[in-house]
Amino acid sequence: MRKIKIVLLHLLCFVVLTALSQVGGVLWLFSLFLSIKLKKKKRYVFPIVYLIFNVLIIPPIANQLGRKKLPVFQRQLQPKNLFYPLLFRNYVDEDLEMVLKMSSSKLFKKDIGITYLDANFPFLDGFPLLPHRSHDDGKKIDISFMYLDDKGKSTNKKPSISGYGVYVNETNITTNNCLKKGYWQYDFPKYLTFGTINMLKLDEIKTRSIIEEFLSHRKTEKIFIEPYIKQNLNLNSNKIRFHGCKAVRHDDHIHLQTK
Ligand SMILES: [Zn+2]
Repeated sequence: MRKIKIVLLHLLCFVVLTALSQVGGVLWLFSLFLSIKLKKKKRYVFPIVYLIFNVLIIPPIANQLGRKKLPVFQRQLQPKNLFYPLLFRNYVDEDLEMVLKMSSSKLFKKDIGITYLDANFPFLDGFPLLPHRSHDDGKKIDISFMYLDDKGKSTNKKPSISGYGVYVNETNITTNNCLKKGYWQYDFPKYLTFGTINMLKLDEIKTRSIIEEFLSHRKTEKIFIEPYIKQNLNLNSNKIRFHGCKAVRHDDHIHLQTK
């Protein structure tokens, strides 16, 4: 009975780590094997194995297979927090990497740093990066808006810890319509903030600059933002689309996707 419990527990760890980070589940099993072989405790082996694979082994393998790891410590293009790279959620294909690198170096000259959220996992087209519906082929990434602090000064801070779930306008027509039609998940990211840390206002000028910069690239296929944000920022490109009620609301981040 005890053995069955242990096997089930390992299975649960495998499933959860795979869902969160794609390769984490396999690394769990590998650490288990190593810890038995080396007669060392799993709690020491797993973090070391995980970090070595995260930093040194997975990036070059993914690179060979067409997915690039995005920078982690560059002010012009960086993750909202270390969980995105630690969970292998910051991989993109070559075209999207090119768009992001070119855009970020241009925007940085205007004192704008790009903060990214979920992108894609390192391997396999079609492997879902939960809870997203479409981040599964290296061509999608979520980017934070830019904000103003309580003195109206531009800041690189974001309202929530995760970067998701704090909306520019709590209520708006599109959200109300989707919720009324029964799409309860439309509002769901409000539960994924992991805490609201800053009271900020949308920096319309800098957010618009980021979106216009993305739009200027031939490889950019579409951008999702909430319709009222598109209107307020005075943007009219037909590459900016409404994502539909089956998705979640996009007035907490920009979704960028390449061809
Ligand atoms: Zn997205």
